[in-house]
Amino acid sequence: MSNYKFNRIAVKIGSNVLTKSDGMLDIARIEQIVEQVVELHQNGVEIVLVSSGAVASGKAELKPARKMDSVELRQLFSAVGQAKLINCYYDLFRQKNIICGQVLTTKESFGSRRHYLNQQQCMRVMLENNVVPIVNENDTISVTELMFTDNDELSGLIATMMDVDALIILSNIDGIYDGDPNDESSSVIRKIKSSQNLNQYIQTKKSSLGRGGMMTKTRIARKVAKEGIPVFIANGKKDGILIDLLTNENTISTFFEPEPKEISSVKKWIAHSEDFAKGKVVVNEGAKNALLKSEAHSLLPVGIIDVKGNFERYDIVKIEDESGHVLGVGKAEYDSTKIRQLKGQNNQRPFIHYNYLCVEVG
Ligand code: GLU
Repeated sequence: MSNYKFNRIAVKIGSNVLTKSDGMLDIARIEQIVEQVVELHQNGVEIVLVSSGAVASGKAELKPARKMDSVELRQLFSAVGQAKLINCYYDLFRQKNIICGQVLTTKESFGSRRHYLNQQQCMRVMLENNVVPIVNENDTISVTELMFTDNDELSGLIATMMDVDALIILSNIDGIYDGDPNDESSSVIRKIKSSQNLNQYIQTKKSSLGRGGMMTKTRIARKVAKEGIPVFIANGKKDGILIDLLTNENTISTFFEPEPKEISSVKKWIAHSEDFAKGKVVVNEGAKNALLKSEAHSLLPVGIIDVKGNFERYDIVKIEDESGHVLGVGKAEYDSTKIRQLKGQNNQRPFIHYNYLCVEVG
C-alpha cells in the first residue's frame, strides 16, 4: 500500500513538457519529474511512465544527410532520440538508486490477446522488481497507417492494461480550457463528468512537437474514465505537479470523473481492440448462443452470415450479432475473401479459434 491515495498510476509525459523551445531536451524538467516519481516510488506508489520525446530529441541531435520524407525522418530521429531519452532517464533514476527500464511497443502489439498479455506480463514483472517501466511507441519500426494516434492513446491502453488507479496526462497547459487557453477570460474546466458534452470547448489546435492535441487527450481521457479509471490532464511544466495532484484536491487540472462500473480485463481489451479491428463478421443466433455459453467455443464459418470490410489472415475482426451488437473480437484464420466464400458452410476449419477469441461471457 502506498502513502498516497493511489497505489499504481500511469503518467504520460508529452514531448512539449520534455523539450525546451529550441527543441533540445529540457534536462532540468526531466530531472524535476524524475524526482517526483522517485518520491512517489519511495512511498509505495507503482508508476508506469509513458514518455514521448524521442522524435523531438532526435531532431535536435542531427541534420539529415539529404532531403527525406516524413517516415524516414521519423525513423531517423526516433532511433537516435529514443536512445538519448532513455539514457537521460536511466542516469537520473540511477542517481536516486532507482532502476528504470524501456518498453517499446506498437499498436499491433495490442491487437492480439497473446501479445497484449505478454506486454502486460512484462510490465508486471518490472513493477514486481521495483523497476520503473518507461514506455514509448517504437517509432523506428511503426508503420505509419498502423501507428497510435499519439502517445495519449498509448497511455490510455497502458492505463487499462495495467489496471492503474489513475492516469495522469502531463501537457504544457493546465488542462482543458472552456475557451482559447491564450484568452484571459478562459479558465480550466476542473471536473468533467462522463455525460458532459465538451465539443464547444475543445481546441483543435495541436502542440508544436507532439502528434496529439486536446481532442485526442479528451477522447482518450473519457474512454479511460468510462472504464473506471480517474484521469487528470495537468501541466507537466509545473514543479511538483504529480505530488500536488496526489495530495491536494485544489491543484489545477482537468479531472475526468470515472464511472463506477468494474469491467473485466477481457472486456477492457475488447474495448480497445475495437480500434484495431479491420473488419466484422455477423453471426447467426446459434453461433451467438454457442459463443456466449462457453469459453472454449471456436467460431465456425457455418455460423457466419455476413462479412464486412476487408482483412487479411490473422487480423483482428469484430464479431457482431444480427442486431449489430458487438459480441467480441478475435483473430481471423481466413482473409475476408476466403471467409466470404466459406460463410454458412459446414465442416470447415474454425474462422476464429477459441484461443484467439475474446467474447464477453455472461
Ligand atoms: N512517440 C513519439 C515520440 O516519442 C511521440 C508521439 C506523440 O507525440 O504523442 O517522439
